[in-house]
Amino acid sequence: MTETGGYVRDLLAGEPGATVTAQGWVKTRRDSKGVTFIQLSDGSSFADLQIVVDAGTVDAEMLSGATTGACLRVTGELVASPGAGQSVELKCASLEVLGTADPATYPLQKKGHTMEFLREIAHLRPRSNTFGAVYRVRSALAFAVHKFFQERGFVYLTAPLITTSDAEGAGAMFGVSTLDLMNPPRIKETGAIDFAEDFFGKRAHLTVSGQLEAEIFALAFTNCYTFGPTFRAENSNTPRHLAEFWMIEPEMAFCDLDGDRALAEAFLKYVVQYALDHCAADLEFFNKRIDSTVLATLENVATSDFAHITYTEAIAILEKAGKSWEFPVRWGVDLQSEHERYLTEETFGKPVIVTDYPKEIKAFYMRLNDDDKTVRAMDVLAPRIGEIIGGSQREERHDVLLSKIRGQGLDESAYWWYLELRKYGTAPHAGFGLGFERLMMYVTGMKNIRDVIPFPRTPGYAEF
Ligand code: ATP
Ligand code: MN
Repeated sequence: MTETGGYVRDLLAGEPGATVTAQGWVKTRRDSKGVTFIQLSDGSSFADLQIVVDAGTVDAEMLSGATTGACLRVTGELVASPGAGQSVELKCASLEVLGTADPATYPLQKKGHTMEFLREIAHLRPRSNTFGAVYRVRSALAFAVHKFFQERGFVYLTAPLITTSDAEGAGAMFGVSTLDLMNPPRIKETGAIDFAEDFFGKRAHLTVSGQLEAEIFALAFTNCYTFGPTFRAENSNTPRHLAEFWMIEPEMAFCDLDGDRALAEAFLKYVVQYALDHCAADLEFFNKRIDSTVLATLENVATSDFAHITYTEAIAILEKAGKSWEFPVRWGVDLQSEHERYLTEETFGKPVIVTDYPKEIKAFYMRLNDDDKTVRAMDVLAPRIGEIIGGSQREERHDVLLSKIRGQGLDESAYWWYLELRKYGTAPHAGFGLGFERLMMYVTGMKNIRDVIPFPRTPGYAEF
């Protein structure tokens, strides 16, 4: 920000009579009876600043360059606006075109573009109404995430992005290597690629989760959280999956599944309320143009208690639903999106937390219940989205953890430090993972996860 300028957001709240400078990009321009009306946006607010240029005020050639997409610096007087929608407008005294945008080729026109087209111009879509709102909300929510945890004394840790352990034993991972793909070193006896010669001296990957490292911190700082990128090489071309997405992972010592559930609910309520309080104009836009249930849903989440059922109860509800499921339901199967949405949208009409899943369908680190059949897992299901949070109480007993690692055929030597945490000062602890982009979809009503992250990475796509 320059000394003479000010955010459009602040100018719009300014007093008539002040001489100010505005800088930004032209959203629209209209010429009527010798007067030029320019809607100027600098991204600071949903509302644009209206610039009014009376005939003869500025050099005609300069003014002709002030077309949609051009970058301007305008100085003039704030005056009360006779038009609807804004209380002040800027009466132009001088105007400088900092960067022109040829109207014949500028891709971002006023008329409604498809989301698919806008994705192809990810370098320009932040200037559109929709994506301006998306990225302002994303920024506000990221701040709210840190604020929530910091206010509660949680220590922020950054988990490594490059790892040599497969955190979940499940997620498909991207390899990290500097070996020559055409001619990798090979182990003589077997012909297999010799990763001992690779950069890290063994096979390395991009992380799928920071949870295991967060557990290290929970067992030193009591409460901690990560908020960083994670990577999954799953070839799922769905509107809910990205290859690179941001995860929020709190981890708490001296906490069981009930405490975990309470934190997940408090967290969602907090960030939703933060958005309602700080992003009103943007949310109103989503409600009007993207999904007319957004505001009602958010207000509902912020104020009503989440439902809680066990997996076993969920299966009973689904079996009684009388629906012909694409994926048949019986005790032991994993819940699919259609089941999750039925529970949260039709049965309860609000977020539902499902706990205590069969051990066979959940990760090895989840704490075994006394029934020896289920584990202390929870999924938070939200209307429209399905699973938004996955979490659990962790197995803190060394012998039980070791037998589960062995039982699932995992390489126990890879988990040596994870097992040592259970040997030296173990404690009950729990945590969860929330996909930041799933949260974004929920809060904005945007239908495709590719449209709530600045530069999406999906199978076959990593432009920009
Ligand atoms: P799903 O069944 O939806 O693929 P998951 O069971 O693989 O999710 P977890 O491994 O529990 O998910 O990850 C924790 C959270 O991360 C999920 O609840 C979800 O919010 C988010 N998440 C998982 N995979 C992705 C992805 N590919 N893109 C975006 N967010 C994701
Ligand atoms: Mn998945």
